[in-house]
Amino acid sequence: MDLHFLGAATTVTGSQFLLETGQARILVDCGMFQGGPSEAVRNRIPLSFDPAALDAILLTHAHLDHCGLIPHVVREGFHGPIRATAGTIELARLVLLDSGRLQEEFAKREDRWERRHPDRAQAEDAKEYAALEAAIELAEAGEDGTASAEGVHVPTSIEPVGRPADGGPGRRDHEADLRAAGAELQPDLDAPLYTERDAVESLRGFRPVRYGQEEEVAPGIHATFLDAGHILGSAIIRLRVQDLPGGPERILVFSGDLGRTGTPIIADPTTLSDADYVLCESTYGGREHEPSGEARRILTETVRLVAEHRGVLLVPSFAIGRTQEIVWELDRLVSAGEIPALPLYLDSPMAAKASDIYRRHAEYFDVETRALLESGDTPLDYPYQVVVNDMAQSTAIAKARRPYMIVASNGMLTGGRVVGHLRNLIDDPAATILFVGYQGEGTLGRHLQDGAKTVRLDGQVRDVRCRIVSISGFSAHADEPGLLAWLAGFTRGRHAGDPGFPRRVFLVHGDPGPQAELAPKVAALGFDVHVPRWHEAVTLD
Ligand SMILES: [Zn+2]
Repeated sequence: MDLHFLGAATTVTGSQFLLETGQARILVDCGMFQGGPSEAVRNRIPLSFDPAALDAILLTHAHLDHCGLIPHVVREGFHGPIRATAGTIELARLVLLDSGRLQEEFAKREDRWERRHPDRAQAEDAKEYAALEAAIELAEAGEDGTASAEGVHVPTSIEPVGRPADGGPGRRDHEADLRAAGAELQPDLDAPLYTERDAVESLRGFRPVRYGQEEEVAPGIHATFLDAGHILGSAIIRLRVQDLPGGPERILVFSGDLGRTGTPIIADPTTLSDADYVLCESTYGGREHEPSGEARRILTETVRLVAEHRGVLLVPSFAIGRTQEIVWELDRLVSAGEIPALPLYLDSPMAAKASDIYRRHAEYFDVETRALLESGDTPLDYPYQVVVNDMAQSTAIAKARRPYMIVASNGMLTGGRVVGHLRNLIDDPAATILFVGYQGEGTLGRHLQDGAKTVRLDGQVRDVRCRIVSISGFSAHADEPGLLAWLAGFTRGRHAGDPGFPRRVFLVHGDPGPQAELAPKVAALGFDVHVPRWHEAVTLD
């Protein structure tokens, strides 16, 4: 059987793995590439498989970088079932409809701009097609094994330093437009990759699975979804695969995004003990989160300082998972009298809807959250929260009486309403930007986190005068010790060659730096470790 690494290979987005056996073909995840334009253009390369010939798609969880290309693949001819937990299905519905809508909006905006600037539009189109060509070449190089390790990751190109904007006033800053408009957008072609209607169509194929119940999802492929502890409904997928009828069986484990032990609201990730092949995420390779007590202490101190200085706390946060957990933490802190009762503006319609879905699925909660709910507490709500519904309300926050807090999407400042707040707060010394999630390489969030003194926003160089604080202890991802502990579950005192001891561990879903740090430590556990290139295919014996 063959495994193709069609996404999340030496990068943290675009998760997609194609498994081809002698009797079936399935995809595990079908995610969108996000981040800068050079990542997003990868969504546009032609599919390297016939979607009509796919038996099923298995989905680990509802984040866009895991499910975002499903409507595209359905539109291209996939008619089979999409298997996911009930929680994932509800959240994916929210994510995909929003994505289809955003792409249509962006296409319209792009079209209007091109009509007004036909000359420049031509140059932009040429640039975008060149980027697409480069991505296609990169994929082909991955397929035939000629890609170099450095060539695989296409870095994004947001300038973090005080380089002057190229071009005079009024010049369209394509990249800033993309950032302001949303990470899900396509820079290369004018038509939306898919529409809201396509997203609605694709929802018909979703079929729920339960944690822990093995089901045959395609001929010779039995799948078990196990709680990954990452976001509501998230799963590790264990496959029992027979390449040919009557042939030997192999166990493949896809970690999906692995959560952090002790994370609020949801349960801890499931530990597994046997596999032939493991695909393990590696987002936080080489990094250790501060202990949760320390993370809470930094959060407490940050909120207190903001209150003291009558400032603003801006928390860029992914709508699903991170937002619910940060609200949970703030609710705990204010209930305990640890932080002053500042107003909290929840400026993400998607986060508000995701919170409703969380509330409806208490069966996924951990013991602590269930106990709070049973005692009449409302741990998913902060008592002084204001849910912001429309753009007018979002804009009006800037006039609110300080101090206050804002939680807004998206988490890496690559788009969404958070960018509007950033414009107001970037050079305000009384403002604090608090990062609580992973900042991908090349994103504006990463540049700020790395201490950039100036950034380009809307094509202008702006000084960074606000305070920047990062807490990784609230991450939705396991840190390096967490990843290694999860992988150690597969050893159990056994050695290479013993039954159940993985023949190979593939590191996926990580930027090259973290992967390079993690790989030798995974090898030290006794595993044969491999970091696949984008579009690399491996044969599994
Ligand atoms: Zn995720």
